[in-house]
Amino acid sequence: MTTTKIAIVTGSSSGIGEATARALAAAGYTVYLGARRLDRLRAIAADIQGRALPLDVTDKASVEAFAAALPKHVHVLVNNAGGAIGLGPVAEFDEDQWLAMFQSNVLGLARMTRALHGRLQASGDGHVINIGSVAGFETYVGGAGYTAAKHAVRAISDTLRLEWLGQPMRVTEIDPGLVETDFSLVRFDGDAARAAKVYANTRPLSAGDVADAVVWAATRPAHVNIDQIVIRPTDQARADKVFRRTGV
Ligand code: NAP
Repeated sequence: MTTTKIAIVTGSSSGIGEATARALAAAGYTVYLGARRLDRLRAIAADIQGRALPLDVTDKASVEAFAAALPKHVHVLVNNAGGAIGLGPVAEFDEDQWLAMFQSNVLGLARMTRALHGRLQASGDGHVINIGSVAGFETYVGGAGYTAAKHAVRAISDTLRLEWLGQPMRVTEIDPGLVETDFSLVRFDGDAARAAKVYANTRPLSAGDVADAVVWAATRPAHVNIDQIVIRPTDQARADKVFRRTGV
């Protein structure tokens, strides 16, 4: 029987995943961190006495190897790995970009859930926390590849609650609005000037704001399921409606 609770955070080499790994460690969890950039992952893991393991959620063999290295009981799985690639109209959609977004945000999340379900159930209080987005229930021009993927995440979260009814399993979806991370840098393929414009003259959330919500949901009593948390900056009313201060 484990004494410390075990948490897994996918995509914890930066942004929301990193902040979540740090916040869960501060809350007393032993954290296993997974991502592709192992150097960054190792540095974060060393800081929080966690364990860094290579993980590419788009690769079935990588997910299985990651799962095989975990303890027999896992309490929390934070499915965070993912993001957006590109911003183009549906009529000209880029197949590689859409496939990559579905691979990480949707299939990756499903692969991780399948691989860890047994370990989560064995803990007696398993909890899957999916990092969705306001893009999971809103749309915006040019965003269909990403919004469709995050709408799928929402469908999976809701389905899991139905399929696991009666099992000692909780399912939470955390849906952030604008968070300042490497998200836009990745979306715009390393174009820092274009990425900076997304956060210009407005006050976005920090990754830590989202991590707070994850820890709060995870630390409710075992019979309390937080279905969904939507968290936006006060400067945002909808995915594509952001207040920007002029003359700043
Ligand atoms: P980020 O800083 O770019 O972080 C993305 C993380 O996902 C990185 O650690 C990256 O690590 C990991 N990742 C990407 N593909 C992966 C793969 N195939 N296998 C394993 N790990 C992978 O962006 P972020 O904003 O923190 O994004 C985290 C999550 O929040 C995403 O699901 C995103 O859709 C969601 N979200 C973000 C915002 C926002 O405004 N920032 C809003 C709502 C939701 P490696 O590259 O090292 O693998």
